[in-house]
Amino acid sequence: MTFEQLGLSADILRALSEQGYTRPTPIQAQAIPVILDGKDVLAGAQTGTGKTAGFTLPLLQRLSTRPSKSGRRTIRALILTPTRELAAQVGESVATYGRHLDLEATVVFGGVKINPQIQKLKRGVDILVATPGRLLDHVSQGTIDLSQVEILVLDEADRMLDMGFIHDIRKVLAQLPERRQNLLFSATFSGEIRALAERLLDAPVSIEVARRNTAAESVAQRVLRVDRGRKAELLAWLIGSRDWRQVLVFTRTKHGANRLAQYLDKAGLSASAIHGNKSQGARTRALAGFKKGDIRVLVATDIAARGLDIDQLPHVVNFELPNVAEDYVHRIGRTGRAGREGEALSLVCVDEDRLLRDIEKVIGRRLPAEVLEGYEPDPSIRPEPIQNGRGQRAGGRRSEGARRGGRPGGKAPGGRPERAQVGKPARVRSPARDAQGDVDGNTPNTDNGNRDPVMLASGDIKVRRKGGKQGGQSGRRSRRGGAFG
Ligand code: AMP
Repeated sequence: MTFEQLGLSADILRALSEQGYTRPTPIQAQAIPVILDGKDVLAGAQTGTGKTAGFTLPLLQRLSTRPSKSGRRTIRALILTPTRELAAQVGESVATYGRHLDLEATVVFGGVKINPQIQKLKRGVDILVATPGRLLDHVSQGTIDLSQVEILVLDEADRMLDMGFIHDIRKVLAQLPERRQNLLFSATFSGEIRALAERLLDAPVSIEVARRNTAAESVAQRVLRVDRGRKAELLAWLIGSRDWRQVLVFTRTKHGANRLAQYLDKAGLSASAIHGNKSQGARTRALAGFKKGDIRVLVATDIAARGLDIDQLPHVVNFELPNVAEDYVHRIGRTGRAGREGEALSLVCVDEDRLLRDIEKVIGRRLPAEVLEGYEPDPSIRPEPIQNGRGQRAGGRRSEGARRGGRPGGKAPGGRPERAQVGKPARVRSPARDAQGDVDGNTPNTDNGNRDPVMLASGDIKVRRKGGKQGGQSGRRSRRGGAFG
């Protein structure tokens, strides 16, 4: 199967060949013809399967081959994502695949100033990528009109529901015209997702590709047993002695992510934390630094890391196992992407036996545990309950390590886990806060020449005008190689 056989236009095929894509992935081969046909789709696919191109390519083709009914640029495709990072990444994909088309796309999400987004929207946009909260802010201010939407995509719908966006999604749906094409992408299918699909989709075609945990044979999964108080020390040693240059590390809590990043940084391993309490500016800078190789270790919580697409990520480390076994699959999906080799290492202490068993059930196989010389677990250490943090306040409880008097770097992280935000997504919706801009004090984007990464993250993405000049944002994109370039 080739992209040509899927019926994609020459301009899109050119962008794909510039990306070096030779063949469609299974989700693309299945989804593209159905979406081109105008049908609703219910697709089961995770990040890493090529799902973004799976919906973006046919969406671009449909919009570029059918003129807007109103005769002017209006929002004709809406792509909703759960997180800002995923929105930025999808926006980049739209810009990349649509670079030879006469279509304008932009991204809106919270945590950055709203005014640059409004300016961009005023200039006219065909494709909007958005997180639900900021989208509704725009709708209520009258800066976004969704009445001309022809195609709706819900990307990572399961995560959107996990994050408590169902009410926002309902409000968005109420703004859309009755007649439209709906595409729902989800990694998992809970009863809630099925109920949403039932309400949203009209005679959908169901597409499911192999789950990443069964497909990702390219990811070597290892478990190292170690005491909870020595995890940080072991991790620092592994990164240093094996000369790992780009490592994504997962912790269970935001507080734990901060502390581990500080510990590694002090140990001379440049590290940054990325989680829901960080301003958008800080998150963007951390991710950009990590992609460029300035930051060697990115410490992330599950929600912050959702959707991160970092090419050729060789090492993913579970500093702590996730409370929800499915998150393990998402985490390790960050490595070994698009056919490349990767290693996923889990540091497991005596408290985490049950979590490990749950994960093994989900992935359908045992993960043999290893022990490193010098880091053998102390058999006299008894398991302690894992904080699930619900109802706890950040910093409201002393950390495990502090209570146990463990080593500085070995303190198990305390504080509130990111999952405690279920039903209460971390997002900035207050216009007053928006007016202040990014909490790190970054100036927002106001003109095309500005190169501050925060401004790029504000979503001002330019799909090149066909036959037009490569100026403005697209010129900037080519210098920086994309919003997170
Ligand atoms: P996604 O699942 O959409 O997050 O995509 C995962 C990764 O696969 C991204 O880095 C894409 O750029 C890459 N990708 C998507 N489609 C293809 C393809 N047909 N061939 C090679 N790489 C691809």
